[in-house]
Amino acid sequence: MIEFRQYTPVKIFFGADCVTKNAGVFSETGKRAFIMTGKHSGKESGALADVLKVLDSAGIAHYVFDSVKTNPGLENVKRAGDEAADFGADFIVGIGGGSSLDAAKAAAVLAVNRMEPILLYENIFPVRPLPIIAIPTTAGTGSEVTRYSVLTRDDLETKMSFGNETTFPAAAFLDPAYTESLPMEITADTAVDAMSHALEGYLSKRSDKVSDMLAMESLRTFAKVRTALASGKIDYTDRENLLYASMIAGIVIARVGTTVLHAMGYSLTYFKGVAHGQANGILMEEYLKYNLDFASEKIKAALGAAGFESVEDLGDFMRKIFGTRISATQAEIADFAKLTLIQKNVKATPREPGAEEIADIIRKSLDRSGE
Ligand code: NAP
Ligand code: FE
Repeated sequence: MIEFRQYTPVKIFFGADCVTKNAGVFSETGKRAFIMTGKHSGKESGALADVLKVLDSAGIAHYVFDSVKTNPGLENVKRAGDEAADFGADFIVGIGGGSSLDAAKAAAVLAVNRMEPILLYENIFPVRPLPIIAIPTTAGTGSEVTRYSVLTRDDLETKMSFGNETTFPAAAFLDPAYTESLPMEITADTAVDAMSHALEGYLSKRSDKVSDMLAMESLRTFAKVRTALASGKIDYTDRENLLYASMIAGIVIARVGTTVLHAMGYSLTYFKGVAHGQANGILMEEYLKYNLDFASEKIKAALGAAGFESVEDLGDFMRKIFGTRISATQAEIADFAKLTLIQKNVKATPREPGAEEIADIIRKSLDRSGE
């Protein structure tokens, strides 16, 4: 029986110079652009300069908010929303990694809805959020094609996502050249985030024929870059493949979501400062071992597509690219497990774990980190 739904309401432009080649999309979207980026991404990638050029030649007024923080929290997006409202923005341009794109989604809501940012999580926005143009400068989150905005929740000591059909970007511009200024460490980190989206989407209980096809395409594309990632030498074609793989994986999770692997990773990011993709990478081998008997065919197929001979081979790859040792006490791990269980995506895991199983996966993973 074939049964699926697919909804990706984003105009996607992929390729060299796609921003300047499709300048008309900006004028179609609005007259006052509120640009959101971080301290490095917009400038170092060259994307901000391209956007400003396009806006200036189209006579579109603009304002640059370049204070998006890594793993942005509620205060950060509230400030952006307020400034966007004061400027009278009629659309938002997010330029950067997942942090900037996710913050752009929150500001798009807050600029036109006077509400405390905590209410974003109710996913009810009386006024339709401003249209968003998303320009990724990392190849990882796929946020340019998802409705999700993942924000740090200090009140809950974790990260939580919100989003509904109105927070999908209206358009996304993916130019691989914008990722060339990414340091190797962030390249590896974000590549593993994308690979994790494809893998988890493929294994999810919510997966279907279409999401599986996309997930496999993303994993096969990751395989082409695997050796380059391990060697630390990466060229334009690798960058192109990574950006493509991450966008396709984004379309997978836009509907299917992630699983307990992402949920566990949030604690390593929140409490240990481990980058998002790296957190998933460190936990991936033990996550797969835990699920092995419940999804053995799919795990075998996914590993093969991504270019790994076995679960151990994948673990060795992750240890090679993420050399740092991460330690946590038993009490901390027990807390991480409790916090993992508040995430909705846990239920989509092929073998749904409880607190003890989660603690066990985290403990075993950390024991071998930095080897
Ligand atoms: P990021 O936090 O956006 O960026 C990491 C670092 O890389 C930042 O310092 C950033 O600079 C810098 N950077 C980005 N692009 C650059 C470039 N081209 N050249 C030089 N430096 C550059 O990293 P990310 O992994 O892309 O995003 C992570 C966030 O996305 C997390 O909050 C995660 O939870 C979220 N996420 C969202 C989704 C989703 O569906 N929405 C999915 C997965 C993850 P700046 O200082 O300028 O930012
Ligand atoms: Fe992710």
